[in-house]
Amino acid sequence: MATRGKKMVERVTGLMDKPTLIRNIGICAHIDHGKTTLSDNLLGGSGMISMDLAGKQLFMDFDEEEQARGITINAANVSMVHEVGGEEYLINLIDTPGHVDFGGDVTRAMRAVDGAVVVVDAVEGTMPQTETVLRQALRENVKPILFINKVDRLINELKIEKKDMPIRLAKVIDHVNKLVRNMSPEHYEKDGWKLDAAKGTVCFGSALYKWAVSIPSMKASGIGFNEVYDYCKSGNMKDLALKSPLHSVLLDAVVHHLPNPLEAQKRRIPVIWRGDKESKVGKDLMTANPNEEIVFMVTKILTDPHAGEVAVGRLFAGTLARGQELYISGTATTNRVQSVAISMGADRVEVEKIPAGNIAAVTGLRDAIVGSTGSTVREMTPFEAIKHVSEPVMTVA
Ligand code: GDP
Repeated sequence: MATRGKKMVERVTGLMDKPTLIRNIGICAHIDHGKTTLSDNLLGGSGMISMDLAGKQLFMDFDEEEQARGITINAANVSMVHEVGGEEYLINLIDTPGHVDFGGDVTRAMRAVDGAVVVVDAVEGTMPQTETVLRQALRENVKPILFINKVDRLINELKIEKKDMPIRLAKVIDHVNKLVRNMSPEHYEKDGWKLDAAKGTVCFGSALYKWAVSIPSMKASGIGFNEVYDYCKSGNMKDLALKSPLHSVLLDAVVHHLPNPLEAQKRRIPVIWRGDKESKVGKDLMTANPNEEIVFMVTKILTDPHAGEVAVGRLFAGTLARGQELYISGTATTNRVQSVAISMGADRVEVEKIPAGNIAAVTGLRDAIVGSTGSTVREMTPFEAIKHVSEPVMTVA
């Protein structure tokens, strides 16, 4: 792997046991609103792939060897580091399928994250799948922030006037807020999840041209809507991307406004897990305790030509390491953990251990399917009821 990649691994592993510095996020959007372009851009900005390549590549294949071999990668997750105010944060980005057909997958991916960046095309506005993903997020107690994408199109294709730009953007925010309020008045009113540009929970930009602004970023950089308009109009978005880079503006918002796993699990476990919150393991889940039993939920199974099946998911409690025996929900057997790894672009990088609050890629869990819970607790209440086709249907409480 390139040196750049190696350094990144050290930075990532150094942050894994500091949950207050972790953000587990998903990007979700109606199809074509720019989720893929945005994901690539964030990776480029975090030094995982070169900025020039970001956006041109179809996915997160930063490893040169993989590129040379022309392997198409279905990267499920990626870890990256972002600095805010002199402090480094670990951002685990989990791929959330954006299509309605994959409703179940969206739910599982949402279960692994604590916050969501909802992407909405500035020209199209909210669409049916925007509603679907937003509903899933709110149901899972996942806090949303908003990224209004393709703002360049408002200016260069729709040719709206400068004065109309903030009005148009405000309309998109209003629509999203209406949805949030209708779906969950409680989150909207009580938790303060109303999207508010002034607070910084809304960013505006262009994933394709790699720039973004938010009200806080405008104050810091002096690049406001007027400047954005002029840069776009004059076709000089390269300079705009240097002065107000998308990855930096958006990841600042992620760090400031989306919860860390400690805050999130306290609030989310009562909603996503049906076990006894007062039990020992219930308390460990609520506090993301890394020192006791392991509770791991599988959100995706990948096939690796060398390692075979890789179970990717969220570790809610305990610390994963090679050699551990885990009970897999819905089966009567245990599976031995063969390796634990983090995802860095296309690469899985094996590490010694992964503590609670992180996303892990695990080999050896041969009985696990998407949705399985792997735990050191024999009678662990799983995160969802699972029917294994190879066995008689088991009812799990
Ligand atoms: P996804 O389906 O949500 O993953 O969307 P993609 O990232 O594949 O983007 C869909 C299309 O919109 C592609 O042709 C992108 O190049 C284009 N696109 C994405 N972001 C922007 C943007 O900020 N401005 C413009 N003009 N086009 C964009």
